[in-house]
Amino acid sequence: MTSTVPASTHYIPENLPSHLQHYINGHFVDSVGGGTFDVLDPVSNTNYATAAAGQQEDIDLAVAAAREAFVNGPWPQMKPRERARILNRIADAVEAQEVRLADLESFDTGLPITQAKGQALRAAENFRFFADLIVAQFDDAMKVPGSQINYVNRKPIGVAGLITPWNTPFMLESWKLAPALATGNTVVLKPAEFTPLSASLWAQIFKDAGLPDGVFNLVNGLGEEAGDALVKHADVPLISFTGETTTGQTIFRNAAAHLKGLSMELGGKSPCVVFADADLDAAIDSALFGVFSLNGERCTAGSRILVERAIYDDFCDRYAARAKAIVVGDPHDPKTEVGALVHPEHFDKVASYVEIGKSEGRLLAGGGRPEHLPEGNYIAPTVFADVAPNARIFQEEIFGPVVSITPFEDDDEALALANNTKYGLAAYIWTQNLTRAHTFSHNMQAGMVWLNSHNVRDLRTPFGGVKASGLGHEGGYRSIDFYTDQQAVHISLGAVHTPKFGSIADPSAVRR
Ligand code: NAD
Repeated sequence: MTSTVPASTHYIPENLPSHLQHYINGHFVDSVGGGTFDVLDPVSNTNYATAAAGQQEDIDLAVAAAREAFVNGPWPQMKPRERARILNRIADAVEAQEVRLADLESFDTGLPITQAKGQALRAAENFRFFADLIVAQFDDAMKVPGSQINYVNRKPIGVAGLITPWNTPFMLESWKLAPALATGNTVVLKPAEFTPLSASLWAQIFKDAGLPDGVFNLVNGLGEEAGDALVKHADVPLISFTGETTTGQTIFRNAAAHLKGLSMELGGKSPCVVFADADLDAAIDSALFGVFSLNGERCTAGSRILVERAIYDDFCDRYAARAKAIVVGDPHDPKTEVGALVHPEHFDKVASYVEIGKSEGRLLAGGGRPEHLPEGNYIAPTVFADVAPNARIFQEEIFGPVVSITPFEDDDEALALANNTKYGLAAYIWTQNLTRAHTFSHNMQAGMVWLNSHNVRDLRTPFGGVKASGLGHEGGYRSIDFYTDQQAVHISLGAVHTPKFGSIADPSAVRR
């Protein structure tokens, strides 16, 4: 493994804010109670800023502003084309700030700068996509000849609470903001407390694009405080959440009192199944990228590689050699392929799994902190082979640059292994056999399957997991469905047959 810039010389973006505020009703504000929390960068692990720590009263203010903008503001009533123009201006602004955004995102999250750049473009694309979709959107009308016409009156729902994680924060925020706003809702965003920096750019982007005040509100803070208050707020009928499965379960319980609409994108432990007839070069490239890109901090990481016995040894040798050659280093260095994990707490978690793995599998690459990077949250790309299905590193989401490899004998065993976790987010299958590719995919307990590819997504397709990986699917029209009510309006075209209750001349005669 190669190292790049030493941590001590690590890059700090220009004009870094030293304090991050909430954004409520068109104004940057601190918490009512004045509380803050520290924000650190993952290379030096020193605090570079404080952020306002939102509490119940801050969420109350943000929700009140969003509710006012929904009930009395112009946004929900605007024609789709008018909203789309604003969404496209937002996309333009995001694209125009690509370099700055990537800079801040990479600094705050530890993502390699080259990979952070792609996130800004994807965020812009989310806004363009939903701008197009709402203009092209039409709803069902159904005729019953001679008697009835029925049509769907689609309506925004109200204040949407958006709660997001720290991996690719800006892009994941855009994923929720774009459809929620496109459909005419107003929002309160609660970004992840580890990475609040890039979210602070939204306010100006939205203001400049012409989004009315109060439509977008942002409250920073801890999940158990600001997030919890948002989930429990009576005036927030929708919660779109992306994060850990255990947090999703807590939110599910807390949202029950108000029977909220919930969209849950949760954790994963996705299999990458490589059959002996696969294009091995392509499979190795993809299986490396699939788990080591974004520092392994990606929900859809193919972190369990299952390999057919006939090619197992060859695959393991070649895979491990490449993993050892991955460039680990300062996130700002364009040569870096794996940067620093987001936070020392997360570093400790991933490092503990690496130690657990040493007794559960055969260590082929990595195994801890790279020698040349004594500071910062760096973990060398780590590969374990011969991992049994009951191993913790096979079953549990590590969310870092750690992968397990397990052999299989035939299709049945491959399928049993692939489905043998509580998660069901993504699956990657490598084979040249068309029949097997489809049959195997259909039998996978996974929300999304990629054949002979890593995660390359068309925004029109459903995104989401099954089992412990999620509840509900977003993506394309499914997002529109989540953020709107479909009211059915029924119109009669003629006389309706109505039983005439209470029309009998002598009811007492019937009673006898
Ligand atoms: P997390 O669950 O710790 O936090 C996510 C968000 O929830 C944060 O904003 C946090 O402040 C908030 N939160 C925490 N407790 C809360 C509570 N009680 N009430 C309300 N909000 C609360 O997740 P994380 O560590 O930030 O992110 C990593 C996880 O996200 C991984 O499990 C990963 O797989 C998952 N993820 C899933 C997808 C997907 O689309 N399925 C995408 C990205 C990440």
